[in-house]
Amino acid sequence: MNFNKLKFGDTIGIIGGGQLGKMMAQSAQKMGFKVICLDPNPDSPCKSVAHEFITAAYDDEEALHELGEKSDVITYEFENISAEQLIRLTQKFNIPQGYQAIQLLQDRLTEKQTLQQAESKIVPFLPIKEEKDLNVVINQLGYPFIVKTRFGGYDGKGQVLVKNEESIQEAKDLISQQECVAEQFLDIALEVSLTVTIGNQKQITYFPLQENEHRNQILFKTIVPARSDKEQEARDEVNKIINEVHFVGTFTVEFFIDKSNNLYVNEIAPRPHNSGHYSIEACDYSQFDTHILAVTGQNLPKEIEILKPAVMMNLLGRDLDLLEDKFANHPEWHVHIYGKPERKPNRKMGHMTILTNNVDETEKAMLKQFEGENS
Ligand code: ADP
Ligand code: MG
Repeated sequence: MNFNKLKFGDTIGIIGGGQLGKMMAQSAQKMGFKVICLDPNPDSPCKSVAHEFITAAYDDEEALHELGEKSDVITYEFENISAEQLIRLTQKFNIPQGYQAIQLLQDRLTEKQTLQQAESKIVPFLPIKEEKDLNVVINQLGYPFIVKTRFGGYDGKGQVLVKNEESIQEAKDLISQQECVAEQFLDIALEVSLTVTIGNQKQITYFPLQENEHRNQILFKTIVPARSDKEQEARDEVNKIINEVHFVGTFTVEFFIDKSNNLYVNEIAPRPHNSGHYSIEACDYSQFDTHILAVTGQNLPKEIEILKPAVMMNLLGRDLDLLEDKFANHPEWHVHIYGKPERKPNRKMGHMTILTNNVDETEKAMLKQFEGENS
């Protein structure tokens, strides 16, 4: 592969200054790289750790060029960059991740078509261009189904669960805003994810299989190692996907497991992922460390070692309201606060990781802590 190996003191440009950008920057700095971050929000989490910060919209061509000129490599922390702009940038600057993953995966429809091409097992779906396509969905998929916008959804935003004809109006409202896909609603027994880093020589480094619980479609907790026998199958799925899509750096594949223990690919995040945050404390390399190693052209560790099993809990605004007074008494809670200026009930404000030799017990104890809000 043809991209530059960075040296200590070289500069990494990050598009996006949220918590993922911040944690990438923290890994980069530990290894002696400088970081320039571009984000429209001058108060974004990454600002406090970046050497330089460019306040500009993600589609501000001039600002993106400034970032490119000042950086030895460009990476991104999220998938909602314009693919056309990224194509132009890749012609001028060193962007080992390329544009293909963004182009294919930022659109749920082309993402699903890519997964079909890879012969991955996915939940039955149909494209929705306009309201009348809902009739086809009702006939072919049947109730219940989920309507998801093709672009821009995250943490369950841009999704409507349609249980029966009474809840169809909400789906119509969503479709009037943009084209969507409809997915059969799956009776899920367990959700798992696999975080993977691809290096400069196409080396593949797998993190351990992660077990995820979502509440209100937002990741609530991750347990590692997952209490599931699907690790090898998940790796096999990832291997099929990387034959179809060019990846460099860290990405995550999310899976559903149904009540008959069938594994389905849900979606792919072409960047570090919330369900990989535990790796900062629980593994010998974090998903951000390996991402920085990959995009700066270094070799990757062959294996990731779990130092201790872990429970990672997300801290939404409402959890912080509930738990803020308790952190002082719990040094075993490895707390990360992202530094977002405004606390909102459903906004991810931070996360915490607890290392434990007894996952079941720790899980129970943590659920009690969060009970006031989420039960
Ligand atoms: P996001 O981009 O917001 O993460 P996802 O498609 O991963 O969107 O959906 C978020 C969560 O909603 C999933 O992790 C799962 O808990 C639930 N969900 C999504 N699609 C389905 C489905 N087809 N059947 C059952 N649950 C689903
Ligand atoms: Mg998801």
